[in-house]
Amino acid sequence: MGKAKRSPAGNATRKGPAAASSSGARRIPAILSARDRASKAAGGGEESPQKLFKAADPPAPASQAAAAAGAPAREEDPPCALELGAQQERWLQFQKRQRVSCEEAAKLLLDTFEYQGLVKHTGGCHCGAVRFEVWASDVVHVFDCNCSICVKKQNRHFIVPASHFKLLKGADNLATYTFNTHCAKHTFCKTCGVQSFYTPRSNPDGYGIAPHCLDEGTVNKVTVEAINGKEWEKAVKAHPTIRAMSNP
Ligand SMILES: [Zn+2]
Repeated sequence: MGKAKRSPAGNATRKGPAAASSSGARRIPAILSARDRASKAAGGGEESPQKLFKAADPPAPASQAAAAAGAPAREEDPPCALELGAQQERWLQFQKRQRVSCEEAAKLLLDTFEYQGLVKHTGGCHCGAVRFEVWASDVVHVFDCNCSICVKKQNRHFIVPASHFKLLKGADNLATYTFNTHCAKHTFCKTCGVQSFYTPRSNPDGYGIAPHCLDEGTVNKVTVEAINGKEWEKAVKAHPTIRAMSNP
């Protein structure tokens, strides 16, 4: 960690668009069937951590949009549901050049726009059951807290908005420990016990990521700030920027 070596291809350290386009998406056929797209839109293959921690999930954006527009059933969608007008040809060329599907092209552009200047880190627990990706700076600002549990777990972490974090696998292999206010959710792998991310009490709408659980190659620098969690209320009050760290 710290001065971690870059991956041989250098892909992992590249910024938003490059990182997104090098994520293995190129193996997927450019044109997906309506059923494939429906399956992907339904969240096939990726698990949302929000499902675990929030009582009520917001409806998926796709179904929201479809409902709002009175769109026909998904099975009847044309090959590309986007109304692109004059950009249609350009869009198709873009997909072809990038060798990505329609959905992946949209993801690439959205990632580029929303995660400017950020890097996609990947990480997980020790046994590999829990894996995630997180968009954050390549210089991570880590809190070293002295509260009762952070000391015992050596729970150094940096905070990101929930929208920057995606659980790739292992939702059903997580156990959650809570205590006192039960606001912080200490999620750890049931198999190996490692807490690679959790929900901090200071930022229940975001995630605390353990920098030591990230894969090598994307973190260039770690700065550490001590937090006096023994006097939690006082410490958070005295730290006006901490709450903003999980703003979307
Ligand atoms: Zn594990």
